[in-house]
Amino acid sequence: MTAADILKNYNLNKTHCRVLVLEHLMKNRRALSQAEIEKSLRPLCNRSTIYRILNILSEKNIIQLIVIDEVNKYFYDDNPMSDKGLYETVYFQCVKCNQVIPAGQMSKKAFQLSEGFMNLRYNFVIQGICNKCNQEYYN
Ligand SMILES: [Zn+2]
Repeated sequence: MTAADILKNYNLNKTHCRVLVLEHLMKNRRALSQAEIEKSLRPLCNRSTIYRILNILSEKNIIQLIVIDEVNKYFYDDNPMSDKGLYETVYFQCVKCNQVIPAGQMSKKAFQLSEGFMNLRYNFVIQGICNKCNQEYYN
């Protein structure tokens, strides 16, 4: 599915910048911050436009919002398991190179909240050292 198809499925107008932002996230297999997205799409889309697009795409659950150390990162999750709403993606953050990548899926059933509690968002992040940085460390 293309970025334009996805926007259409969610009844969102396919503006030039919406398509560009979503395409950019779809082709990146790691989570990106708004600053990183801005850097790649400059000068095609400005900061406030990108900010609004990221908000609407994450509100609609088209992209995943991951908050790490108070920095928002965004990821387009193409894993079909996530679609069913039963699983959440667990992310891995490398504390050396700072990349954030999907690490697997976790069943939401594993986390039953006590009565009266309501979940708004899942944010599963494992912090550690990625395979690339780990190799550099030992070589
Ligand atoms: Zn690393």
